Amino acid sequence: MTPVWERLIGQQHVVDDLSRAVVDAEHIRRGEPGPAMTHAWLITGPPGSGRSTAAGCFAAALVCPEDGCGVCDACRTAPLGGHPDVEIVSTDRLSYGVDDARELVLRASMAPISSPWHVIVVEDADRMTEKAGPVLLKALEEPPPHTVWVLCAPSVEDVLPTIASRTRLVPLITPTTADIAQLLVEHHGVDLALASFAARASQGHIGRARALASDEHVRMRRQEVMRVPFDLADVPSCFVAAANLLAAATDDAKAITDPLDQAESAGLMAQFGDLLDAASKARAKRLTSAATTELVKKQKTRRTRAVRDQVDREVVDLMGLYRDVLAIQLEAPVGLVNEELRPQLTQLAERSMPNDTGRRLQALAHARQQLVAAVVPLLALESLMVELKDPWIRLASA
Ligand SMILES: [Zn+2]
Repeated sequence: MTPVWERLIGQQHVVDDLSRAVVDAEHIRRGEPGPAMTHAWLITGPPGSGRSTAAGCFAAALVCPEDGCGVCDACRTAPLGGHPDVEIVSTDRLSYGVDDARELVLRASMAPISSPWHVIVVEDADRMTEKAGPVLLKALEEPPPHTVWVLCAPSVEDVLPTIASRTRLVPLITPTTADIAQLLVEHHGVDLALASFAARASQGHIGRARALASDEHVRMRRQEVMRVPFDLADVPSCFVAAANLLAAATDDAKAITDPLDQAESAGLMAQFGDLLDAASKARAKRLTSAATTELVKKQKTRRTRAVRDQVDREVVDLMGLYRDVLAIQLEAPVGLVNEELRPQLTQLAERSMPNDTGRRLQALAHARQQLVAAVVPLLALESLMVELKDPWIRLASA
């Protein structure tokens, strides 16, 4: 294993497979056989398991002169998409359309500039529409000799079958709590107690664990979500809880998208500022107005997706809580995601039956599906809260 792979934790089988591919890629360049290497890969794994990291490490190892030394320019820039021969493609939109796929294929046809391979990483390959599929398929079937496609998706089933069948599968597993805690301590300097909490609370999502370990505000938001099940005494309080959850998610989404929006708008003005001073003013105005309309549309889509992602995160946190309740009810010999809330969770466990908890977990899973299916987030949250409602709260406080 070369040093570049150290960033990918808890995925030794993947590191082994992809390292072998990098060695064989070298053989192929010399005109020798290299069966471990191929032109199209599909990296799958649950969100936060390290799909982008795996793709970035693989890309770096392919363009690094020493198969991934971890310190050279190529190793540092490739995972961030800053290397001329590595493109990291992601979308803010809900899907990739035909035009996006055509542009991708065109870019993939270009020969590499400074290394042997041109690597195209497509994050969210699950967002490829049925119509875009055939365009990409042709490029996967007949790739230029130096092009390597690395597609990423949550699971094989999320990718169009025709595309999945043309790729070599690299399945990631959910990293263990111990692996994540170790990463936080060793690579991010987090103290052990906080690292253990963040690793547990993240439920296997490395990015979430990093945020929980490093950001007080993120921890506070999570605490607010964890209090929700204790406030759902009746239908009106369910509606209040739904509105509060959506407001918090919207705030957090804004904190992510506002700086991006501002940077893009400033970039657009800088780009067209000169044009507006140029001779052909009418044409310049038309161009500026068309570009602004396009940008506003893109930003709106990104905000919508960011809010949905934040609501989904809240729902996942609640799933962890009810999973703990079920574990207590069934006396399952497993650690709790929310060990620090054990006394409160034990109360919840005592005043309901495992069946009730199972029903609530189903409602949470259903809410996640609704968010994917573009149901209005407030409606999804309201019906979810009503399903989670706990009449015991009112009786207990009466
Ligand atoms: Zn290197």
